[in-house]
Amino acid sequence: MNNKIIPYGRQEITPEDIQAVIDTLQSDFLTQGPKIAEFENAFAAYTGSGYAVAVSNGTAALHLAVMALGIREDEYVICTPITFAASINCVKYCGGQVLFADIDPETYLMDIQSVEKIIRDNPDKKIKGIIPVDFAGRVAQLDEFKKLASKYGLWIIEDACHSPGGFFVDGQNEKQFAGNGKFADLSIFSFHPVKHIATGEGGMITTNDPDLYNRLLTLRSHGITRNTELFENSVEFAVGNSPATGEYPLWYMEMQELGYNYRLTDFQAALGISQLKRADQNLKKRKSIAKSYTNAFTGTPGIIHSSGFIEGHAYHLFVLEVEDRKGLYDFLRSHGIFAQIHYIPVHLMPYYRKQGWKEGDFPMAERYYSRCISIPMFPSMNEEAINYVISTTKLFYERS
Ligand SMILES: *Cc1c(COP(=O)(O)O)cnc(C)c1O
Repeated sequence: MNNKIIPYGRQEITPEDIQAVIDTLQSDFLTQGPKIAEFENAFAAYTGSGYAVAVSNGTAALHLAVMALGIREDEYVICTPITFAASINCVKYCGGQVLFADIDPETYLMDIQSVEKIIRDNPDKKIKGIIPVDFAGRVAQLDEFKKLASKYGLWIIEDACHSPGGFFVDGQNEKQFAGNGKFADLSIFSFHPVKHIATGEGGMITTNDPDLYNRLLTLRSHGITRNTELFENSVEFAVGNSPATGEYPLWYMEMQELGYNYRLTDFQAALGISQLKRADQNLKKRKSIAKSYTNAFTGTPGIIHSSGFIEGHAYHLFVLEVEDRKGLYDFLRSHGIFAQIHYIPVHLMPYYRKQGWKEGDFPMAERYYSRCISIPMFPSMNEEAINYVISTTKLFYERS
């Protein structure tokens, strides 16, 4: 075991995945073609949402989501510091202002009480939206966030990069799946190789709102539309020097607002479709690993708190809060186990410190960071690897 490295997460590519990509490479389409719509439909069905829009990566999904919902220079969005920086940067891309809320030390998710306090403490600020993150795969209690959003007139973007297939149980005791469009205006996903479904680079936005859906389709491709009903210029102009018949010529299209090229390619979509077929099976595997870890680490010396076992958790990560975190990290590494730290609080990244945030601003997030470690969690982990991670972790605290 010692000569093999166990990473904290890794993708799984099967012969079927490879064949799906080859088939698409031999078809007529390389960039957006029929596989995009097929992937979008399959993903919408998987999440239970009305619509899905495939984009080039999760960060592009966040950027377009904020653009579509809208933010101005004097408006604010509330974010969580325990996430990947992209969940916050998207507000800055659009010229908006950021406020952070602290995390709930039990769930590691954005603390709804902290969010409400920020809103109440800042009556002079125009707060427009919230971006809860389903951190590690635990889905945010979005029905509660929705109540808050309705009360204060806010939009919600759910960053569901960690949680495809995960759910929370709402106030009526119903399961609500990540990205199902019932509570968040838009939900976003990533298909980076460490995430549940890998397309190399790739992302998705889900929604139940047809207007947002149409807007996103335009924004992902330069702000260009080919829908004749939406055209703003005259038919005469479009036709040029020939007699106008009242119809726009076939070549005609309009760029109506500033969009981007955030398209996914057809062969990536083919890979995504193939990967999505194994999503349920892989989620089961992640949950069984989480169960083994929870059983092994409950009440163990050195372990302060963990992700634990929660039914709706999608277990992108399994997090331990431990004593002597760096000691454990180095010890695991010297035994071929490459754990990772998720995340360094975003408000303490130098870019955000320069905008005024400092240590002590969000005590729960900062305490969490000081002692968190993500141990290996990926569906192709075998029993031997799981037991090796458990015994090596325990060995560190028994030795010291
Ligand atoms: C991975 C990730 C992103 C960004 O996704 P990319 O596809 O890498 O751009 C955003 N938010 C979270 C929480 C992520 O884990």
